[in-house]
Amino acid sequence: MTTSNTDAVYDDFLVDLRPLGREVGNQKPFTKKVKISEPIGLDMIAIPAEESVTIDGTVEAVAEGVFVNGTINAPTKGQCVHCLSDLAGTINTSLTELFLYPDTETAAEVEEGDDDVYVLDDPFQLELKQAVIDAVGLALPFAPSCTSVEGHDCPETDVPAPDGISGEENDLIDPRWADLEKFKNLATLDDAAQDAEKE
Ligand SMILES: [Zn+2]
Repeated sequence: MTTSNTDAVYDDFLVDLRPLGREVGNQKPFTKKVKISEPIGLDMIAIPAEESVTIDGTVEAVAEGVFVNGTINAPTKGQCVHCLSDLAGTINTSLTELFLYPDTETAAEVEEGDDDVYVLDDPFQLELKQAVIDAVGLALPFAPSCTSVEGHDCPETDVPAPDGISGEENDLIDPRWADLEKFKNLATLDDAAQDAEKE
């Protein structure tokens, strides 16, 4: 399939449920490959915009809705919380959710803003987007690191931890402040020059 950027379809997380029907026990496999317009994930690590999220699984008609059992696969980009290196990884996590039919008693009892339960707007259209966002958010590490994402130690092991107390004795420069350090050095030189003048 060839799609140019101009006609690419973004954020199409809809699964057509008409072939499944509502007869309890019916099952259908499905695969969705969805190009996303906005990153999905956390501040420090996410599936970047323009990447594709692949969702593979089955939908099954159950008494009150549709049960989805599948996996989510996508590339991720992030930043190591220790050394700030760019991280490239992949997410591979499960998507196991019940989506209630809108016309069931249980769905009627679901309160507006209840984030724990998914209710279908249309009994024949499964919108997976929010469930994917939620699953990815839970699966990604809150504090991604070279070790957890790329499986190796940080390239510079003498970098202080971001929350470490940088004592006077500590000459190590956190890369986040490296640019500032230049100014500090300038200031130190300046002080030294002034001290020299006083003497
Ligand atoms: Zn690192």
